[in-house]
Amino acid sequence: MANRRARSENKSGHKYIFVLGGVMSGVGKGIAVASIGKILSSRGLSVNLVKIDPYLNVDAGTMNPVEHGEVFVLDSGLETDQDMGNYERFLNRDLGADDYMTSGMVYRSVIDRERNLGYGGKCVEAIPHVRDEILSRLIRAAEQSGSDVSVIEIGGTIGDFSNALFIDAARVIHLRHPDDVVFVVVSYLPVPSTIGEMKTKPTQTAVRELNSYGVQPDFIIARSTHPLDNKRKEKLAISCNVEPDRIISAPDVHSIYDVPMNFERDHFSDTLLEALGKEEQPAADLSEWKKFAEHAHNGNGTVKIGIVGKYFDTGDFILSDAYLSVIEAIKFSSYTLGVKPEIDWLNAKDYQNDPDKVSDLKAYDGIIVPGGFGETGIEGKILGIKYAREHKIPYFGLCYGMQLMTVEFARHIAGLKDANTTEINPDTAHPIVDILPEQKEKLARKDYGGSMRLGAYPCDLVKGTAAHDAYVAAGRIESGVDGSTSERHRHRYEINPEYIEQLEKAGLVFSGKSPDRSLMEIAELPKHMHPFMLGTQFHPELRARPLAPHPLFTAFIKASMERSKNK
Ligand code: GLN
Repeated sequence: MANRRARSENKSGHKYIFVLGGVMSGVGKGIAVASIGKILSSRGLSVNLVKIDPYLNVDAGTMNPVEHGEVFVLDSGLETDQDMGNYERFLNRDLGADDYMTSGMVYRSVIDRERNLGYGGKCVEAIPHVRDEILSRLIRAAEQSGSDVSVIEIGGTIGDFSNALFIDAARVIHLRHPDDVVFVVVSYLPVPSTIGEMKTKPTQTAVRELNSYGVQPDFIIARSTHPLDNKRKEKLAISCNVEPDRIISAPDVHSIYDVPMNFERDHFSDTLLEALGKEEQPAADLSEWKKFAEHAHNGNGTVKIGIVGKYFDTGDFILSDAYLSVIEAIKFSSYTLGVKPEIDWLNAKDYQNDPDKVSDLKAYDGIIVPGGFGETGIEGKILGIKYAREHKIPYFGLCYGMQLMTVEFARHIAGLKDANTTEINPDTAHPIVDILPEQKEKLARKDYGGSMRLGAYPCDLVKGTAAHDAYVAAGRIESGVDGSTSERHRHRYEINPEYIEQLEKAGLVFSGKSPDRSLMEIAELPKHMHPFMLGTQFHPELRARPLAPHPLFTAFIKASMERSKNK
């Protein structure tokens, strides 16, 4: 105990919690990290969350979201892994560009430095040079965030070839600051159906393997279908050298937002603070979070949302990863309005193949066309948008969904028959949506990585519009005067400025614009034409948080509830 008190006097020391995966991937390491962040911030600490992806891609932007999950864009414009979205949603805070790293990013810095003679003629090696680059990035992330604690997820599992250097960097930080570093292993305990008993052996093996790196875990999070019983807790404690009260039971949960409360059932924040020498922190205040999490279980009635997209032969499971932020944004707004959303994936190609099928959309209270790229299913999406407009079904277009909503409007209301985006038809007579001038050159030289219009840009809102009303209702801007907001982007194309006047004359309202008025950020139909038909060039879903739902999603769900009532 005396030893622990001495540690707590080390007030200047930034604390590091490294979270590693044992046995297998995909068991909720990211949610565990986000939840550790949540419980520590509920104890009054300022927390930073960092994700390390061991792959060689320099960022997540070039990866197929259907295979790897959505690309989550930060304010800085960095294209990251979907876990970063969960981190921001749990912490209710924007994360910085230093809070994400990949092997590709690390190696690129080292190689660039070598090319600039930055290593003074030395032979450049994985150890120490690559490891040192990782160390300096971790330290920079801690400094930039100004937080008390960094919780760092090392991607992959213990024993992988690709994350070994990151584990070694963590070992070195621990060696230098033994009182300031804690290791957590998130492991999986299978319950084989033939045995019907939870098995600890794979976890024991994973911990032993971690030991061979020179790292001893301080905590084990025992992920399983069932809660961990005392017998197995003791067994793990003895075999893995971890005190029983530092083994946290983490059974499957109905909602990921329950995980922080589950952790607290095992007094996780108490033992973590003790390990960090920060026992003096105030008691946990998770009241607001609990209230939100309960909404996931309760709610009066449902609202039925159809998401029309280009879906390949994938199951719902993969799709929910590819559109994770959209789904969560729908949930947050629905929960605040007291309803539960029911989400269906609707394949745009079905409407293309059989246009009569589009009338299936009448079963929905609201329709979303999310972000996307390329040709597949485009005409089907436009058929869906037309149906939503003509049948006054609330419609919300996200990025591509806004561009296609404008194309549909141009074709059928503004009388520009051949209107299209040049992403699909470069020779269209009416290029309503065209490539951003600075993007043309980038594509010509195949400069695809991190080269779109990315990240946060301001958007001015026009008073008297549905968009403006939505931000006022959410208390984000004042009523009666034009306002401004900041939203995240990821696109190469934009509404062609040459057609704006014509589109406006035909009734389309551009209710959000870039401050220099050159880029159309939000398009909507006026109330007398449609109850809610709105699209955004930005991605509002990237800024939707459990405790701060996105104003435009809330307005869309409200309109959808209205339809559901009147149906
Ligand atoms: N493909 C469109 C563009 O590049 C839309 C992008 C998106 O939906 N994120 O502008």
